[in-house]
Amino acid sequence: MENITSIFREKKLKLTPQRLAVYKYLMSTNEHPSAEIIYKALQPEYPTMSLATVYKALKTLVEVGLVQEINVGEGNFRYDANSHEHAHIQCINCSKVSDLQNISFTTLNRTAEECSEYKVLSNRIFFYGLCKDCQ
Ligand SMILES: [Zn+2]
Ligand SMILES: [Zn+2]
Repeated sequence: MENITSIFREKKLKLTPQRLAVYKYLMSTNEHPSAEIIYKALQPEYPTMSLATVYKALKTLVEVGLVQEINVGEGNFRYDANSHEHAHIQCINCSKVSDLQNISFTTLNRTAEECSEYKVLSNRIFFYGLCKDCQ
């Protein structure tokens, strides 16, 4: 939590209780929740917080680099407090999204550069399959 406090201070942003609550919730889960899910989860503790506030808090957290926004091809975004580069895999049956930590983006980027003669700056990698529970 020191991380978020110093980053917000550095960027001269106000660390509101709502922003902190959204970040804490994301830190506590690896489910890659959508804004709606975060909103519902925080309702009991923050009954006055609107969905719009959750969206605004997420936008700020993404801008400062604490949270990453991912879109696995669904209608909405999911959010991840693990802001390090990592690939994701989604179950096509239950829609859950899991992290894939051990895929080297550096190696993939180099392969893409060799194939394309581009200078690769970033990538988004998603895999799809059936999770252990759904197989
Ligand atoms: Zn599944
Ligand atoms: Zn992730």
